[in-house]
Amino acid sequence: IEGVNITVIGLGPMGQAMVNVFLDNQHHVTVWNRTASRADALVARGAVLATTPAEAVAASDLIVLSLTDYQAMYAILGDVDDLSTKTIVNLSSDTPDASRKAGAWARAKGAAFVTGGVMVPAPMVGQEGAYVYYSGPAEEFDAYADELALLGKPEYVGADDGLAQLWYQAQLDVFLTSLASFLHAAALLAEAGVKPSEFAPWAASTLQLAAPFLTEAAEQIESGEHPGDLSTVLMMGATADHVAGASEAAGVDTALPKAVQTLYRKAIEAGHGKANWTALYEVIKAR
Ligand code: NDP
Repeated sequence: IEGVNITVIGLGPMGQAMVNVFLDNQHHVTVWNRTASRADALVARGAVLATTPAEAVAASDLIVLSLTDYQAMYAILGDVDDLSTKTIVNLSSDTPDASRKAGAWARAKGAAFVTGGVMVPAPMVGQEGAYVYYSGPAEEFDAYADELALLGKPEYVGADDGLAQLWYQAQLDVFLTSLASFLHAAALLAEAGVKPSEFAPWAASTLQLAAPFLTEAAEQIESGEHPGDLSTVLMMGATADHVAGASEAAGVDTALPKAVQTLYRKAIEAGHGKANWTALYEVIKAR
């Protein structure tokens, strides 16, 4: 396979992992980073260090950005006026609106623009199980789909520039909340002398038990009907009260269980008490 010229700007753990994957696949990689020393190991492996962002952009038609946020893109590429023939693939995370603005900004300079959200930690980039959400005009994504597939399985989610970030944020919503709930529960048990290591396998089994619930929950959400008499809002709401009460008694932070408790209380107030727990969705969704 012929190597392609690829520029990677941003050499945090993520950007470095990406460069390594492209090098492993015989591509010609040019890099630029605000702190140049972060390129040392990559240069030793064959990457070319550009001395300015403009030089980095000139080296390749495919420009991959891996930065802390979208503001960093403007800081780096703000002075580069002509981006025609370039495809900018911004794999930095930010809000969907920041992605949309960036799409308009890049296209006004003549570039094709694709946004992406990498769904695995840096050491997993390019490995089995890695995947990346992409959005932007399909033809702009398709142009470099093969090269991008090296980083992880591409999951193209639509033409709207904001969609990849929206999917990314939705996944992190689930991830961060679940992980925080484990820490909270561990703190609760620790007050009674139970070691987190003792609890961890039990929490893991609960996460596994919960996963299959999602299919039926999604069906009920989509139909707007929430039948069920096993796990009603009233029953789950009483449990939410107990979790909040136990947390208060143990002296651990109550923000997380109280947030859940509040949702159940709202759903009960709205008359969903006898419905399945999925009716919580009705008080969560945008009005
Ligand atoms: P880092 O924050 O470690 O790296 C960020 C990069 O952005 C560095 O190269 C940094 O340059 C550069 N940067 C930040 N601000 C500026 C600026 N104003 N001007 C110029 N350069 C700037 O991030 P990661 O490599 O960990 O992640 C990159 C992106 O990938 C982030 O958006 C992150 O959310 C996302 N991501 C990361 C994952 C991970 O596991 N690490 C997982 C999934 C997504 P310098 O070196 O000079 O500071």
